[in-house]
Amino acid sequence: MGESVTWHLACVVCEATYPGLEMRYRCDCSGTLDVVHDLSHCTLTREKLDARLASKNPLDRSGVWRFRELILPLGEEVLEAIAVTRGEGSTHLYEASTLGARVGVANLWLKHEGENPTGSFKDRGMTAAITLAKHLGMGAVACASTGNTSASMASYAARAGMDAIVFIPEGEIAFGKLSQALAYGAKTIQIEGDFDDAMELVQKVCDSEGIYLVNSINPFRIEGQKAIGFEIMQDLDWQVPDWIVLPGGNLGNNTAIAKGLVELHQLGIIQRLPRLAVVQAAGANPLYTAWTSGEDVVPVKADTIASAIKIGSPVSWRKSMRGIEALNGVVTEVTDDQIMDAKAMVDAAGIGAEPASCATVAGIKRLVEEGTIKPHEKVVGILTGHLLKDPEVVVNYHTEGIEGIESRHANAPISSSAEIDEIRKIIRS
Ligand SMILES: *Cc1c(COP(=O)(O)O)cnc(C)c1O
Ligand SMILES: [Zn+2]
Repeated sequence: MGESVTWHLACVVCEATYPGLEMRYRCDCSGTLDVVHDLSHCTLTREKLDARLASKNPLDRSGVWRFRELILPLGEEVLEAIAVTRGEGSTHLYEASTLGARVGVANLWLKHEGENPTGSFKDRGMTAAITLAKHLGMGAVACASTGNTSASMASYAARAGMDAIVFIPEGEIAFGKLSQALAYGAKTIQIEGDFDDAMELVQKVCDSEGIYLVNSINPFRIEGQKAIGFEIMQDLDWQVPDWIVLPGGNLGNNTAIAKGLVELHQLGIIQRLPRLAVVQAAGANPLYTAWTSGEDVVPVKADTIASAIKIGSPVSWRKSMRGIEALNGVVTEVTDDQIMDAKAMVDAAGIGAEPASCATVAGIKRLVEEGTIKPHEKVVGILTGHLLKDPEVVVNYHTEGIEGIESRHANAPISSSAEIDEIRKIIRS
């Protein structure tokens, strides 16, 4: 592996550096690692990026590889030969002022990452990580997952012809996500334990078995996910919004978006930075607690209906805090009841998303009420996963109800005989 690349790895804690293609996820001091790009020769411009929107090159058509110089700059020839892409990204940015009015901001936009190939933003990180795994000649990849990472990994590994091994917490994973892992052919191991237990185990197994780990502790996952922020800026014609708001679980995604926007700003492609708000579920809020107390993150036992953010011991918290500080950000928390209320509104707006995604909208509502987000500010909320990832929660909310959640916007199905008169009566009522 004598090949030299234009990036290196650097420890977030002690700043020790390692070669860009060394296969490691942690520093010798156990700190997490960043990909540090040498941007001194980067010639990317808005014009170049906009021109790629009209291109038919599969790399340009991907909402990740369109920004390849800032993601995994292996060079055009290498990427054209090996990139494992499903045309991820290029998700819709919804104008959502009607919904915005209900939460107190007129200028609301929702970036729907559920419109990725496997239904969540994880595809953006996965295309980068699996492409690098292929470049490194890896034959097997693994992850611990609350569901979406495994769905995405299983798909991209299958495309790359690699073995995929998934560690999931038994009985805690939404059906849409479990279906995907099984369907795409991953070896799926259900652990008697929660996500945090699964995460610990998968790191040990990968170390001893020489399997490539693609959880967001893998710094290349973070590189791919930066493209969400890039794409939002391009969607808005490079006019920076006041806020970007998203849910936080393992905290890789907010880390990624902050890192990417700082780089874009350094290159002069955007003129200023937006503020960042990270929303946690109140039952899985270690970052919120640490942020408000000024202390380090202390792991908690996580409990929330929003399974994608049901994480008590977030791997990326140091990187996350650094990014939030760089973007003058805030951290907030919302209850499951608030999440499901927001979800009913997002769904009824014709957009729809899974519960964790809707923590975004619940968080915006809270931050507006508290005066942190001003009513006139331009806010982009990120919806992280597709409505159909968790159909059980939707049906339960609208029918028999969910314990501890008030179904304020229930839309239950109506039973009818097959008689036209009865049906007419129902329709007219
Ligand atoms: C993974 C995921 C999250 C949490 O993202 P982190 O990077 O772990 O903070 C939120 N929502 C959905 C739908 C996810 O799949
Ligand atoms: Zn270190």
